[in-house]
Amino acid sequence: MKKQLFVLSLAMLLGVNHGVFAQDNNEIDPKLTEDWTHKPEIVSSDKYGESPSDAIVLYGGKTDLNKWVDGKGKSITWKAKGKALIVEKNGGMITSKRSFGDMQLHIEWASPKKAVGKGQQRGNSGIFIMGLYEVQVLDSYNNETYCNGQAGSVYKQHAPLVNACRKSGKWQTYDIFFTAPKFDSDKKLISPAYATVVHNGILIQNHVELKGPTEYRGQPVYKYHKAKLPIQLQDHGNPVKFKNIWVREL
Ligand code: MG
Repeated sequence: MKKQLFVLSLAMLLGVNHGVFAQDNNEIDPKLTEDWTHKPEIVSSDKYGESPSDAIVLYGGKTDLNKWVDGKGKSITWKAKGKALIVEKNGGMITSKRSFGDMQLHIEWASPKKAVGKGQQRGNSGIFIMGLYEVQVLDSYNNETYCNGQAGSVYKQHAPLVNACRKSGKWQTYDIFFTAPKFDSDKKLISPAYATVVHNGILIQNHVELKGPTEYRGQPVYKYHKAKLPIQLQDHGNPVKFKNIWVREL
């Protein structure tokens, strides 16, 4: 305490206080901290949710069905209806032809209006980023399950901060900001994956660190993989709808 008082008195004697700092700052040219080295690229987006000008559209309507393949690398059997792409039971997971690493992913989904089943059986699908890291899609409106398995969870790793689910059948948005894990030349992990998720405009995952690829059983462990991998959407046997899927590579 005595030492702190001494330091404080000394600071006052030397004029180390806000007023003096402010005076000093006034003598610094503000231009010195202006950065003119580059201009951020112009990206336009007229309506929220519509794909920005630099986005890669993965699904905007049935003409985009060919941007996906099934588990055998063939055309998908999931159905296009209006603007939506609907999970086809036994159609299996679908995989984007393009691969991505760090990204901003926008995706809209709706669970069936008629809420059938309980817990994990109601409106279940999922977004497997890099085909490995699942952000859960589930009808979590009045539907209890383990918190790290409900809508917006990073499945079995991070529960959402809040339950932002809309009523069954309503369209919902996910905006996912994903940092891919990085591996060195010896294929050793040097930086884990991180995810931020905004559900219907509400922050539900705030830069959470992923422990490894999604595991249904047991603990996740990182294994080396490529810097870019496709996105997969899950067939969990429920006719979940998706629309307006786009990615901005970061
Ligand atoms: Mg799922």
